[in-house]
Amino acid sequence: MSIADNIKRLKNETKPINVSLVAVSKTKPVEDVQEAYDAGQRLFGENIVQDLADKYEHLPKDIQWHLIGHLQTNKVKYIAPFIHMIQSVDSIKLLQEIDKQAKKNNRVIDCLLQVYIADEETKFGFGFDEVIELLRSDDLAGLQHVRIKGLMGIATNTDNEKQIKEEFYELRTFFDGIKLSFFKNDVAFDTVSMGMSGDYKIAIEQGSTMVRLGSTIFGERVVKHWRNN
Ligand SMILES: *Cc1c(COP(=O)(O)O)cnc(C)c1O
Repeated sequence: MSIADNIKRLKNETKPINVSLVAVSKTKPVEDVQEAYDAGQRLFGENIVQDLADKYEHLPKDIQWHLIGHLQTNKVKYIAPFIHMIQSVDSIKLLQEIDKQAKKNNRVIDCLLQVYIADEETKFGFGFDEVIELLRSDDLAGLQHVRIKGLMGIATNTDNEKQIKEEFYELRTFFDGIKLSFFKNDVAFDTVSMGMSGDYKIAIEQGSTMVRLGSTIFGERVVKHWRNN
């Protein structure tokens, strides 16, 4: 199936149930993004700042770009003028820098707090207790140029569907809890970004509002190893 066919099929699956579809175009060329765009796709995700900035430069300006990978504080300035959402906020220090750069650009930047739900040591993110600590802290109250839209999580990379289901269930339940405690009157706090190509159906069953799909749309990524380049 072509990229355009994949977009149409996935839109038909997600749109009627109000799940947002972020097309993850990392490692893929501008032409592939353009093909998805021409099929009506507007939300795209990248995990590397330089790639994101390059693609922003070369593609239509009504694309809503999402950063989905770990962000170093010294690189926030490169995406602050245009980024639509930063899904991978994993420290208060980073949130403060996003606020500072957003202010410089006269913007408010939408953010998701990345929560660590996987049974793996390599994934970035806050623990559940750290999210609560952050939401209680005075540090957050002073930030006028970031808007916390919700949570993002990555499940364990495993064939064990029961485990994936439990991890997504925990994230959704946690979201509902902090929504009640901290965002009761804030309609903008509405996003649970969970589900990738291998597990998005489980994620949707567990209450995802946003899925991030790469290989299902664009095909497998050819992993270029830095040593072989
Ligand atoms: C690469 C990536 C995706 C998409 O992965 P696929 O399995 O190709 O759908 C989603 N979310 C994050 C954070 C990623 O890094």
